[in-house]
Amino acid sequence: MDYTYDPENIFAKILRGDIPNQTVFENDHALAFRDIAPQAAVHVLVIPKGPYVSLDHFARDASADEQVGFMQAVAAVSESEGVDAGFRAIANTRSHGVQEVPHFHLHILGGQQLGPMLPK
Ligand code: 5GP
Repeated sequence: MDYTYDPENIFAKILRGDIPNQTVFENDHALAFRDIAPQAAVHVLVIPKGPYVSLDHFARDASADEQVGFMQAVAAVSESEGVDAGFRAIANTRSHGVQEVPHFHLHILGGQQLGPMLPK
C-alpha cells in the first residue's frame, strides 16, 4: 500500500490552524471537531495529529502513545456528546470506502436513532 500523505489536505490545514474548526476535544495526539455538514444530530470527526492517511495506515504505523491518545479522544467525545444511547463510528477508507479527505478520521454519529449501516 502507498500511504503517501498530502500535507495540503483540508484536515492538515485544520491542524495547522489555517482553517477554523469547532473543537470538541483535543489532546497531544488527537483533535475532535464538528463535521461541517452534519449527517446526524451529533456528528464529530476525531483525527490523529500525525500524518496518517487512513485507518489501516494509522493502525500499522502510529506509535502506541498516538493510538492510545486517539482512543482517549474517542472516549472523551462519547462522554461529552450525550450519546449514552449509542452511536456509530465510521472510518471511510480509500476509494471503495468513499473516503473524501485523505487524513484518517473517525466519524462519530449519534444523538438520534440511526438507520441501517448501509443502504439496501
Ligand atoms: P469522508 O468522506 O472523507 O469520510 O468524510 C470527510 C468529512 O469531512 C465529510 O463528512 C465532510 O463534511 C467533512 N469536511 C470536509 N471539509 C470540512 C471542513 O473544512 N471542516 C469540517 N469541520 N469538516 C469538513
